[in-house]
Amino acid sequence: MEKMQFKAESKRLLDMMIHSIYSNKEIFLRELISNSSDAMDKMYYKALTDDGIVFEKENYYIKVAIDKENRTLTISDTGIGMTKEELESNLGTIAKSGSLAFKTENELKDGHDIIGQFGVGFYASFMVADTVTVISRAHGSEEAYKWESTGAEGYTIEPTDKEEVGTVVILKIRENLEEENYDEYLEEYRIKSIIKKYSDFIRYPIKMNVTKSEKVGEEWEERQVEEVINSMVPIWRKNKSELTDEDYEKFYQEKHYGFDKPLKHIHLSVDGTVRYRSILYIPEKMPFDYYTKEYEKGLELYSSGVLIMNKCGDLLPDYYSFVKGMVDSEDLSLNISREILQQDKQLKFIAKNLKSKITRELQNLLKNDREKYDTFYGAFGRQLKYGVYSDFGMNKEELQDLIMFYSSKEKKLVTLDEYVSRMPEDQKYIYYATGETYERIEKLPQTELVADKGYEILYFTDDIDEFAIKMLMTYKEKEFKSVSSGDLGIEAEEKNKEVQEENKDLFGKMKDVLAGKVKDVRASTRLKSHPVCFSTDGEVSIEMEKILRAMPNDQNIQAEKVLEINVNHAVFQSLKNADEAKLALFTNLLYNQACLIEGLPVGDPVEFADSICQLMV
Ligand code: ADP
Repeated sequence: MEKMQFKAESKRLLDMMIHSIYSNKEIFLRELISNSSDAMDKMYYKALTDDGIVFEKENYYIKVAIDKENRTLTISDTGIGMTKEELESNLGTIAKSGSLAFKTENELKDGHDIIGQFGVGFYASFMVADTVTVISRAHGSEEAYKWESTGAEGYTIEPTDKEEVGTVVILKIRENLEEENYDEYLEEYRIKSIIKKYSDFIRYPIKMNVTKSEKVGEEWEERQVEEVINSMVPIWRKNKSELTDEDYEKFYQEKHYGFDKPLKHIHLSVDGTVRYRSILYIPEKMPFDYYTKEYEKGLELYSSGVLIMNKCGDLLPDYYSFVKGMVDSEDLSLNISREILQQDKQLKFIAKNLKSKITRELQNLLKNDREKYDTFYGAFGRQLKYGVYSDFGMNKEELQDLIMFYSSKEKKLVTLDEYVSRMPEDQKYIYYATGETYERIEKLPQTELVADKGYEILYFTDDIDEFAIKMLMTYKEKEFKSVSSGDLGIEAEEKNKEVQEENKDLFGKMKDVLAGKVKDVRASTRLKSHPVCFSTDGEVSIEMEKILRAMPNDQNIQAEKVLEINVNHAVFQSLKNADEAKLALFTNLLYNQACLIEGLPVGDPVEFADSICQLMV
């Protein structure tokens, strides 16, 4: 018997498998079962073109058997089998199967990358077995061969007997190590659950003898019963009409997509350029780790019913990262590396398709079930606003009709479309006000004039809101305008200009007192009952200043603040009558009040407190 050497590349991979510290060893079974399934597919295709072969479904199955005493796990199939040459070339080389050719030495050493994401096939067996034996008889051949390997040193090949066409893979399971338990791969329940997890939807039955307890007279007896472990027809291959909401919910739970009930499911079956099926879910609640580093977006990716990736992130844009579910396509190859997958045309096509389906479904939900949409928006609305802002506004058109803000008039969340369609004719802008809570915004002095005009105001309480709106710029040709902005587009009465002129000296003096802190001091057009507020000139609002200041790369970007004084307020008389010292005191007090109203820190709290005391005594 001749000892053969593995090809260099294969030896490298084998080494990696054998010494793998990779925790996901269980995938070896998925790989072997997929190979078996492929081998039976090959028979099926052969039968299509060869009249000499009749493909009878019941003759095609996979069998998994555990022998605890001998520490073996056996996977057999009735597929097309391998000739001696095929055993040599298929199991002696691996480099031909795409994934490896693109890997650098370092990536191979690390191992996580390929094993975790893609099939490395047959070689994964060596993660759990120290000897692997393959007995195979090819279709159309009378001879059978036994291939055996104990690892990187090489393999042997010799003739043997096998009655039927097909392949048997026998794994001699490793002995337990202190830090690694291999016995689990000889446990019935464990093997069953691995099959369920990865290969439930393989189209051929996966049979296994399982132990059943039965009461015979007074005694419990254990019996071996052959069971088909996989369900074979995946839910996504069934017709929508056959399925109930409950079925979808069950699948959601089985798959551990979330602990909540899904708010909505989307079942797609696409037969276009790229064929795929998909079940998507919009969860009801935000996962507890949603805004942590640990959260990973992505969908399960299947290639013809075989799970090839747990979380394929490329299938979802970040703003839909809350979507859960799976995609199965027969047009994707099982053995492609991640780099290739990212550029894969088919995958890109599917991703684009899914994105627009999700958008459409959300639009429908908004239109037809507002209550549900509100629930959804409560959980994930922030994400949509983030989507408007991110990628330089690339997706703003797609998302602008899905975002909502709290309305001063409706006292609930409204869409931009709803806002604009209610705008009185003389209203030029879409008005908004920013603040920490709705209650606080409600009390902002800056809202007085706009509200008095009877205009609706959108309340922005999320950090992202104003940034998203700046990216959007307009909605249905209406510009957005902060109630704090210098020019509100509401006819400022001529009188105001006169007042400004009349009190030029006073405002000038006040501006000197506040040098470096404000850009200007002006008579306010927007204040009605409050004595003072800030407005801003330019693009940066006070709210944005606050957010930018809290960021790690703070560039000290400041809003151009204008201190506005209500000339109809009694306080204004006091300003007029004040001597220089008093005017400085009052001006600083008013400035600090405006800061407090905006939720900005008072520059010098002690001085502020002293000033108030000065007034009191
Ligand atoms: P892959 O399946 O990705 O090609 P593997 O290393 O798992 O890589 O298998 C290499 C080749 O060996 C397969 O392409 C197939 O031709 C052959 N093979 C593996 N297992 C079987 C089997 N059970 N029956 C027939 N052929 C098999």
